[in-house]
Amino acid sequence: MNVILMGPQGSGKGTQAGRIGPRLGLTQVATGELFRAAIAARTGLGRRIKDLYDRGDLVPDDLTIGLVEEKLDEIDRERDLGEGVGGALFDGFPRNREQAKALDAALARREQAITAVVRIDVPLAMLVARLAGRRVCKRCGAVYHVEFNPPRADGVCDRCGGEVVQREDDTAEAVTKRLEIYFKQTEPLLAYYEERGLVAAVDGDRPIEAVTEAIVAAITRHVPSANAAVSPTAGEQG
Ligand code: ADP
Ligand code: ADP
Ligand code: ZN
Repeated sequence: MNVILMGPQGSGKGTQAGRIGPRLGLTQVATGELFRAAIAARTGLGRRIKDLYDRGDLVPDDLTIGLVEEKLDEIDRERDLGEGVGGALFDGFPRNREQAKALDAALARREQAITAVVRIDVPLAMLVARLAGRRVCKRCGAVYHVEFNPPRADGVCDRCGGEVVQREDDTAEAVTKRLEIYFKQTEPLLAYYEERGLVAAVDGDRPIEAVTEAIVAAITRHVPSANAAVSPTAGEQG
């Protein structure tokens, strides 16, 4: 099973991917997270993309697709080792037609396909409010909000104790640019997946827990066998 979470910046993809992945035995493939890790580790890739990233521009497709292919190989290896991996949960990828086509091809080479695309709907004014208050854990990437979802202790990650900070690209200018790119290049992809009957829409303007339940229900509707793919360690049996 391979699921794409689709929605504009601030719609809650990262937040929901972190909750749904473990529940359905899906491995999160979050390209933004992978790029942040590369920048923090100052790898060759990280140094190459830092300026693009900070401005809110897309990283070139070849670099992005290469990174996703590596991640798919890793998922295949874990699956072969019987580690209860049921597939990929894409968050922030694909973001344009080129990437969508490359993903289809990469999955086809593995005799797989996209199972469902979940569109998360949130009004624009709410997106802006969410992005202005977004904070993330420097160490594990957990997502918080100063008002809507604060960590228990100020500035400290609930999950790992890491430092909770504002992202370098969550400036007003970079956010505006990222939303523009989303509506111009990424949203049109929904038609590409709708043609194949893969899209399920979910109201994302509700409490985090309610949105999680709606997404799990939407995926399960699209994939009647979704429950069978739940890993034995996922803790959500029966
Ligand atoms: P947001 O959803 O708030 O834009 P992400 O963490 O998804 O945040 O992405 C942060 C940045 O990482 C993007 O602005 C872009 O520079 C880069 N990035 C992430 N995913 C992709 C992608 N699929 N293609 C190109 N660049 C990407
Ligand atoms: P995306 O990955 O789509 O850009 P995030 O998961 O980073 O979105 O969420 C953006 C911000 O909104 C974060 O600060 C997060 O804590 C907050 N948020 C996410 N989902 C909700 C929700 N259902 N209600 C209120 N705030 C939310
Ligand atoms: Zn953390």
